[in-house]
Parts: sequence; C-alpha cells; structure tokens
Amino acid sequence: MAYTISDDCIACGACADGCPVNAISEGDGKYVIDADACIDCGACAGTCPVGAPQA
Ligand code: SF4
Ligand code: SF4
Repeated sequence: MAYTISDDCIACGACADGCPVNAISEGDGKYVIDADACIDCGACAGTCPVGAPQA
C-alpha cells in the first residue's frame, strides 16, 4: 500500500527532495507518488508542511 498525496498539497516540492527512491514527481497542480516505486517509508509525510501525504 503506497502513500498518496491529497489535494491539500501546495506543490512546495519538499517531499520529492526527501524521497529515498525518487517516487514523487510534480503533477497537475500538486505532487504525485508513483505507487509502484514507493516503499512506504513515511518520509514524505514527515516532511510535508500541510500533511498531504497519506498512508
Ligand atoms: Fe517516497 Fe517514502 Fe513517501 Fe513512499 S513513503 S513516496 S518512498 S518518501
Ligand atoms: Fe505537496 Fe506536501 Fe510534497 Fe509539498 S511536501 S509538494 S505540500 S505533498
């Protein structure tokens, strides 16, 4: 079960820089997680200022 990023995302990019497997990229108005690459480490949830990444 990969993490997903909710519509609360403000596209700051902080999570993408911290993802150990580069699973996060900029999408249309928000960032998105590649479910096949995500290893469920939770780093993005800890980094995000608005709590957008959800397990
Ligand atoms: Fe990357 Fe970890 Fe977030 Fe998955 S949970 S997108 S591996 S930082
Ligand atoms: Fe969006 Fe949070 Fe990632 Fe910033 S850290 S791009 S607000 S999910």
